[in-house]
Amino acid sequence: MRVDAKDMGADLEKVLITKEEIDAKLAELAAKIDAEYAGKDLLIVGVLKGAVMVMADLARALSTPVTMDWMAVSSYGAGTQSSGVVRILKDLDTDIKGKHVLIVEDIIDSGLTLSWLLSNLGSREPASLKVCTLLRKPEAAKVAIDVEWAGFDIPNEFVVGYGLDYAEKYRNLPFVGTLAPHVYGG
Ligand code: 5GP
Repeated sequence: MRVDAKDMGADLEKVLITKEEIDAKLAELAAKIDAEYAGKDLLIVGVLKGAVMVMADLARALSTPVTMDWMAVSSYGAGTQSSGVVRILKDLDTDIKGKHVLIVEDIIDSGLTLSWLLSNLGSREPASLKVCTLLRKPEAAKVAIDVEWAGFDIPNEFVVGYGLDYAEKYRNLPFVGTLAPHVYGG
């Protein structure tokens, strides 16, 4: 555990999931994904910016050859709440019609963003469309989503690290943790 990195240690309340736990979980998920897509062409789609770390590490844990693409979306809502009204900031570079597509997510909170994404990508007629997420908050779910591979179910707390930010900071922490109240002005 490296909590002392770049003065970020003082901003943290606790480490929820260590780097070692993340690495082990991604190896486990990669083995299942490899089994599912054996002999098929797989396109993995990451949602910017939070999924960057999961995409990079999951892709390297896979034995299946993959192609990678990225989407950026903005979800409108009050404060930190997602509204389900989504705007595409950057679309895929590739046509996914007839392809096996796996959406790779950092976290599913209300599920509204992912639900929109599934219907948007689903309408492009991929051969298959599945979801892998590192984190999921079951207590925060507002829509039921069929997630094929989920790493960790976590409590309904705001987390940072391993791609996840607070005001664009903390993305490069190698673990997932919660912030001390003083960071929010508490
Ligand atoms: P949803 O539409 O599922 O409510 O929200 C999904 C997006 O909200 C995530 O992709 C992420 O960007 C953001 N989000 C949700 N929960 C958290 C959290 O605990 N920490 C951070 N940093 N972002 C979160």
